Amino acid sequence: MSSAAPAEISRDLLERFADSAPRYDRPGPLPLWDDDFGSSEYDAALRAVARRPDEAVSLYVHVPFCPGRCLYCGCNTTITHDSARMDNYLDVLEREFALVSERVDGARDVLQLHLAGGTPNYLNDAQLTRLSEIIERRFRILPDTDQSIECDPRRTSAGQLELLHALGYRRVSFGVQDLDPQVQRAIGRIQSADLVRDVYWMAREVGFETIGFDLIYGLPHQTPETFRTTLDAVVEMAPDRIACFGYSRGTDRGPHQHAIDVHQLPSATARQELFHDAVNAFTSSGYRWIGLDTFALETDDLAIAQDERRLARNCIGYTTSPSSHLLGFGTGAVGEVDGQCIQNESTIEAWEAGITHGELPVARGHRLSPLDRRRRDAIAHMICNLELPAALAEGCLDDEYARLAGYVADGLVTVEPDRLRITPTGRFFLRGLCTEHEAYFNWDRARWHFSRTN
Ligand code: SF4
Repeated sequence: MSSAAPAEISRDLLERFADSAPRYDRPGPLPLWDDDFGSSEYDAALRAVARRPDEAVSLYVHVPFCPGRCLYCGCNTTITHDSARMDNYLDVLEREFALVSERVDGARDVLQLHLAGGTPNYLNDAQLTRLSEIIERRFRILPDTDQSIECDPRRTSAGQLELLHALGYRRVSFGVQDLDPQVQRAIGRIQSADLVRDVYWMAREVGFETIGFDLIYGLPHQTPETFRTTLDAVVEMAPDRIACFGYSRGTDRGPHQHAIDVHQLPSATARQELFHDAVNAFTSSGYRWIGLDTFALETDDLAIAQDERRLARNCIGYTTSPSSHLLGFGTGAVGEVDGQCIQNESTIEAWEAGITHGELPVARGHRLSPLDRRRRDAIAHMICNLELPAALAEGCLDDEYARLAGYVADGLVTVEPDRLRITPTGRFFLRGLCTEHEAYFNWDRARWHFSRTN
């Protein structure tokens, strides 16, 4: 499977398809999930899982605390310096684990455990240890459970990394974003390249098997020259995985983002050029391009799985060990259980109130119809395998298949007798191509522009 980007993307394509879509990579965008889907529906889904005791699960745990607010942040987090609030959060989380595990009727093997936030490593050592105990009291964490955690490099230490490793975490990802001082000032997140380098080597010495960096393109003051400096520094450190996400401005859900001057943001075309530079920098330095926006060293599990067509994707990200059920814990956590998508209440108050009343703290959900599942599988196939087999579309996604075939003229796909293949150029616009499967928005194909259907 080709991993490289084309040497150049034509300006015409960039201008036509640059501002392709909101993050769309699964059927039924989260804002359109059903508010009437509540705890009784989640309860029924969990009890259905209880009837299939051999099925393993994956766990996502959200830790919604940070010591300060980054101006680009779109995460569900609370700024606090009160450690007692985090202790209380763990108290409630323990009850949520009890509510869920009782319904799935006993301990299950866990394939994947992921801690994110917020800043999970803002918890102190005792709290991190307690969190592991809470999880292990209710679920079976095995020696080969894939345990990962997102860490803020400004909040960690050799001692904390040693503790996390002792608790079973083998993968750690650090938020790096951009190393240019002017960009860092504009986004309110100062962390020198030296600090990132020190933390990286600490994690290596502690023995983490996979170290990942998260970068963001499309930030204020980013230019091809400044971003190149960041890319070079990252490549020199050689993390195992790099995720390179586009900055998604959302002042409605994060008013603090108003502090970022829109006039300093790169244009939509310039954003795509920054991403193209990142693809070139990584793929010419021994990284494979994974799915939409991730890069992995050729020896990394993800790269091998992509080659062997075993790569899968869930709400946590790319994985080599997919499970049928992802259970989400904590505020705003998203899960997928027995074919239903579920999101917890996103404020600590509402989440805690539900659990205190003995209820699963569900805010909304989405029942995946048979057609949704087919769309989900088609999208996953396009992202993970860069193709859409005709057999997967036949019977219910024929219109989508025909529309995708229409991108031959733009050089984004090729048509074979039994499948469509995404070309190296088309890969650059893959999120937009996936959006041809969208059923919940109006997708203006001519302009690659979204509007809601209701
Ligand atoms: S550390 Fe992460 S979650 Fe916390 S404010 Fe910054 S971007 Fe948001």
